[in-house]
Amino acid sequence: MAVSDAARAAGFIEKTAELNVVAGAAPGGASLVGLTRDQLKDSLAAIDVPERELKMRVAQLWHWIYFRGARDFAEMTNMGKELRAKLSTAYTLARPQVVSEQVSKDGTRKWLIRMASTGPLDKGAEIECVYIPEVDRGTLCVSSQVGCTLTCSFCHTGTQRLVRNLTSAEIVAQLIVARDAIGDWPGATPPDGAFVPSDGGRFVSNIVFMGMGEPLYNTDNVVAAIDVMSDGEGLTLSRRRITVSTSGVVPQMERLGAEANTMLAISLHAVRDELRDELVPINRKYDIKQLLDACRAYPGLSNARRITFEYVMLKGVNDSDADARKLVQLLKGIPAKINLIPFNPWPGSKYECSDWERIERFSEIVYRAGYASPVRTPRGRDILAACGQLKSETEKLRARARMMAEQGIGAEGVYAVGNGE
Ligand code: SAH
Ligand code: SF4
Repeated sequence: MAVSDAARAAGFIEKTAELNVVAGAAPGGASLVGLTRDQLKDSLAAIDVPERELKMRVAQLWHWIYFRGARDFAEMTNMGKELRAKLSTAYTLARPQVVSEQVSKDGTRKWLIRMASTGPLDKGAEIECVYIPEVDRGTLCVSSQVGCTLTCSFCHTGTQRLVRNLTSAEIVAQLIVARDAIGDWPGATPPDGAFVPSDGGRFVSNIVFMGMGEPLYNTDNVVAAIDVMSDGEGLTLSRRRITVSTSGVVPQMERLGAEANTMLAISLHAVRDELRDELVPINRKYDIKQLLDACRAYPGLSNARRITFEYVMLKGVNDSDADARKLVQLLKGIPAKINLIPFNPWPGSKYECSDWERIERFSEIVYRAGYASPVRTPRGRDILAACGQLKSETEKLRARARMMAEQGIGAEGVYAVGNGE
């Protein structure tokens, strides 16, 4: 954390990623889970499945992996024994490892997931993923990167030093892991006492890219993952129920709209450039005007398809009446929803959450101007699962190890704790 604090003080916009995984690459190991149709086709061609069979075999694998959630090639009874044997020699249907699962008293679940190693020096990147059940929907908050290269001053993920892009397969795998854990496959049942939607719909009905990382710094993989998640013959999530949240990577916004056609959320958080430069430092590259112009140009925008503007409530920083009035003035002409997020503190954060009366007053001004302005109910606070609090266990342990080393306490064994299942 010390390094990030120094970087912030020096006014750095971003850190450099340690490892950039080639877009679309398969994750380490030979699991077929999370792959795109093209990647599955290549995997089949590599084990000498004849060209004329490839299309049919991809369709079969697709159904088993993404519609049924198969965990063993033996289940794939519409494929010949010989092919199944070949597949299980060359590949697996392994999921990334669930290192831990925490269940909040409100039913929110947070998983720490360790990805397969990508090389001899990589112990396996860790990311967090959160499931938020409601009566009529189940929302999965996924990560797009390990950590984040950006350094927003109120966000815990931004303090993490380890950064790499996730592959599209690793992004899709988060949905597979979640559906495994809550029994969201044909014939499966949720764990005893689990809170899942009771409206007869899917347990995971919505996806938000609001976990770790900046999705539009990893657009290739995010777009490819959304293609897999929304495919009508597999995971079948509606693109209108997928929301990508960005801190404002202006040059990538149009592409997201054109290629992924999902809902868009913007982390605005400030209405003046001077303050936004500090809170969301990417603003120094693309300022509020450029950001809002890109919003106006976002493909498919209408009153039925609005952009969500996220606004974190920071006491005495961005929460005045004048801020609220300026906010509605800025958004004039953009089909918008405003989402007020109570700030979620984390150990060492320098901000406080605005008082409840202040949030209500701010919300009132926004509401009077004609915007619905739901205040996001913090979920899973007891397990540090709320917005902006995600940070991988390895990083937390590193910080602890550093602290212990500074205090002259041997750090050995600390990593062993992190390996506990
Ligand atoms: N990098 C993307 C998506 C991940 S963050 C982005 O910044 O949009 C998801 C949301 O949580 C963003 O709006 C982010 O600004 C907000 N957030 C980050 N830290 C927070 C905190 N401590 N409390 C409340 N919201 C936070
Ligand atoms: Fe990255 Fe988003 Fe956190 Fe900013 S708020 S540091 S962009 S994850």
